[in-house]
Amino acid sequence: MNPRIVIIGGGTAGTITANRLSRVYGDDAAITVIDRDDRHVYQPGLLFLPFGLVDPNRLVRSRQAQLRAGINFRLGEVQRIDTEAERVMLAGGEEIPYDVLVIATGATLLPGETQGLTGPGWQERVFTFYTLEGATALRDALRGFDGGRLVINTVDMPIKCPVAPLEFSFLADWHFRERGIRDRVQIEYVTSLDGAFTKAVCNRELSGLLAGKDITVTTEFNTGEVDGTGGRLVSWDDREVNFDLLVTIPLHGGGEVIGSVPGLGDEIGFVRADRSTLQSSLSPNVFAIGDAADVPASKAGSVAHFEGETLVSNIQRFLRGEELEGSFDGHTNCFIETGFGRALLIDFNYETEPVPGLFPEPHIGPLRLLRESRLNHLGKLAFEWIYWNLLLPGRPLPGISDQMQLAGKQLNLLSTK
Ligand SMILES: Cc1cc2nc3c(=O)[nH]c(=O)nc-3n(C[C@H](O)[C@H](O)[C@H](O)COP(=O)(O)OP(=O)(O)OC[C@H]3O[C@@H](n4cnc5c(N)ncnc54)[C@H](O)[C@@H]3O)c2cc1C
Repeated sequence: MNPRIVIIGGGTAGTITANRLSRVYGDDAAITVIDRDDRHVYQPGLLFLPFGLVDPNRLVRSRQAQLRAGINFRLGEVQRIDTEAERVMLAGGEEIPYDVLVIATGATLLPGETQGLTGPGWQERVFTFYTLEGATALRDALRGFDGGRLVINTVDMPIKCPVAPLEFSFLADWHFRERGIRDRVQIEYVTSLDGAFTKAVCNRELSGLLAGKDITVTTEFNTGEVDGTGGRLVSWDDREVNFDLLVTIPLHGGGEVIGSVPGLGDEIGFVRADRSTLQSSLSPNVFAIGDAADVPASKAGSVAHFEGETLVSNIQRFLRGEELEGSFDGHTNCFIETGFGRALLIDFNYETEPVPGLFPEPHIGPLRLLRESRLNHLGKLAFEWIYWNLLLPGRPLPGISDQMQLAGKQLNLLSTK
């Protein structure tokens, strides 16, 4: 009998996995993707939406239409996973058996977990651009914002695309300068981290850019409460930050369904998985990919893409009874919009943090790492086409390998940490 491979989640990671598996197996495996809805949102586009730089309708496509012919798409909410009986249960009671299960359920936003965040003021002066609805509402609010304190707050890590709140801050600076009211707007970036970013060399670069754009950074601020009426963020250690408009990046957790199996997830619901093979710690025939996995890589679409190769190879190895390969190195590649039609590019993995250099070709680039350029911005814009036409279909990205390349990078800078 052909192996039955069931994938929960038809977002970035689930779609990449299904399409890559379909290329490998053709009709020799029964591949099923289950998702609760048929609206695939291009999430990187949510960054541009609040500034009126993209139409929300352009960001959404059918999930099913991104899957290759022969892949079975099931609309439904997975309520329970039974790793003993090797089946998943849908709302309504239907059971779907599997030989291999891939969990690609992403990250869930948990704004309700922070006291007051979704209380008075929510969607009036408190917004998030991490959802299509939130980003659209924020666009309307920004249009009517003529001055005051704009605060961007990352409640805690991990979050999807950890640089997106910084990019938002840079674009806000640009937006208000274009409108000629920058002198009436104070922009403050409030983070639970001890710097703008976790990696030292990159942090130095980003902190310099923030300072140059007159964006205040408040660090080690662990938000305990949001007072939407009074316009106050209150930390667990009783510090306060005032705002007229708050852009929050709420707490993230794994999917509720992960909690349906004791031992499958960590304390915040992400699947415990080997950081190099992506096999779950609980069951050998269960794997995790993308934001759903608790591996210490960034939660980013590029990571899901780089993980895909390892995952698909390991599913084949598992089904053949062979040892798995630990080939995923934490490779992450991310454009960082800095406003005025410019962007940075960073490339790093578990072992090597972002440094300046050339990418993807070590001697000619043409993209420059960790330096602002117009070309990087064009790369960020091109990523949308790449996402729908290369990344999701599971095609290789020309010149870019799944493992991070050290050539072309100024690794000597790492010793100056
Ligand atoms: C504002 C923003 C900007 C970003 N910018 C970038 C960027 O520039 N570059 C980059 O690489 N990444 C970026 N990202 C991150 C990127 O979008 C995510 O990392 C990526 O989409 C993760 O893919 P995923 O498949 O793991 O999760 P998702 O794409 O979120 O998919 C998870 C899917 O699982 C489904 N699901 C969950 N639970 C169930 C269930 N119980 N039953 C049925 N279905 C279920 C959901 O409906 C969803 O479709 C950004 C994200 C945001 C929010």
